[in-house]
Amino acid sequence: MYSYRSYTTSLKAPHGTSKAAIATTQSRGTVHCSATAPAPAAHSFANNLQGEIDDANKRYSGILKINKAPLGYGLEASTSFCEGDKVISSKALEVTPRDSHTVQTGWDRHVRIDLPARFVNHSCEANLGIRNNNHGAYDFFALKEIEEGSELIWDYEASEYEIGSFETCLCGSQRCRKSLGGFKKHGEQVKSYYGEYVADYLKE
Ligand SMILES: [Zn+2]
Repeated sequence: MYSYRSYTTSLKAPHGTSKAAIATTQSRGTVHCSATAPAPAAHSFANNLQGEIDDANKRYSGILKINKAPLGYGLEASTSFCEGDKVISSKALEVTPRDSHTVQTGWDRHVRIDLPARFVNHSCEANLGIRNNNHGAYDFFALKEIEEGSELIWDYEASEYEIGSFETCLCGSQRCRKSLGGFKKHGEQVKSYYGEYVADYLKE
């Protein structure tokens, strides 16, 4: 939960024929669908962010990589994904008071999750959807075919009941809701768009 601004555009903008576009052309019809999210991190890497990033990039080699853009971190697909692929599996590192970097997993439960999932940016038109997992956090599934080189993004309003610290959304998607208030504000839209891919506690 680092940024409400996706940098998809900046990844693709400089070159008309991006790496993603080339990969899509070459792989059309034979999309690679075997990517499976590895197990969550074995260590908490407290106070060692670079070590945690390096560990996540190593575990997810060939699946995704953590990029640092001027506006913050984000995740880039290193391969293509098919709808339904489990792309990332996260785990809760600690239960902690809500802040702009926590993820909500229950009415009164906010957790700090491991990398790489902690660096997934927000979009109102996400390509990843969440499901509760048995690590106290979420697994992230491809909601549609995702091309290599794309930014991996999910919708924070599918887990957060209330969002107060970011009122203006700059995700830039055609479905952008312009302001984020959480499931409390946009629940009906979120449910109709993501279906089962919302936090379990919000289905109760
Ligand atoms: Zn938006």
